[in-house]
Amino acid sequence: MLADLLERNSVWSQARKAEDPGYFLRLASQQTPEFFWIGCSDSRVPANVVAGLDPGEVFVHRNVANVVHSSDMNLLSALEFAVDALKVREIIVCGHYGCGGVKAATEDMPHGLADHWLEPVRRLARAYALDLAKCADIDARRDRLAELNVIEGVRRVAETPIIQKAWRRRTNLRIHGLIYGLKDGRLRDLDCTVGPGHFLKETVE
Ligand code: ZN
Repeated sequence: MLADLLERNSVWSQARKAEDPGYFLRLASQQTPEFFWIGCSDSRVPANVVAGLDPGEVFVHRNVANVVHSSDMNLLSALEFAVDALKVREIIVCGHYGCGGVKAATEDMPHGLADHWLEPVRRLARAYALDLAKCADIDARRDRLAELNVIEGVRRVAETPIIQKAWRRRTNLRIHGLIYGLKDGRLRDLDCTVGPGHFLKETVE
């Protein structure tokens, strides 16, 4: 119930103030997060909580299945603000195993608007059909597809004019791909990090 939620908020804010009287005043005056997080809307994967970060430490964009659409004005606006105004140094695209959005993208039944949203994930599944067929079962295939979707998201973020422009100005900006395990609460690095050097090298080849 909403009343319970408001009560929990009241208890939380009072506990914070008791612990650190200047906490909210400091946060209200500025935010200086080091991270920009692009994650799934799934309620079990809240960026701050799973990364062990406090308010003010991570700027967040979430959508169904953490899809990076190159023309998503919502994501691009947040990305531009994070890079140009907040000067974040680490961008994280984070997917998770057991993702309902990824599952929907592998099913034949219609899901309404979500089918439009998840089209890039379906496209990935077709592109990697041979690799995915080697997975032991349907759950393993979906989990591998969730990983591929993160890796593709990292690449798409790197290719945006926002990042390309930022890399011409500064080199302390990296984009990482992580995947979260709902069953063990662990974040895993998919080792697909890109920075200015990596990307320039790839475009030259
Ligand atoms: Zn998900």
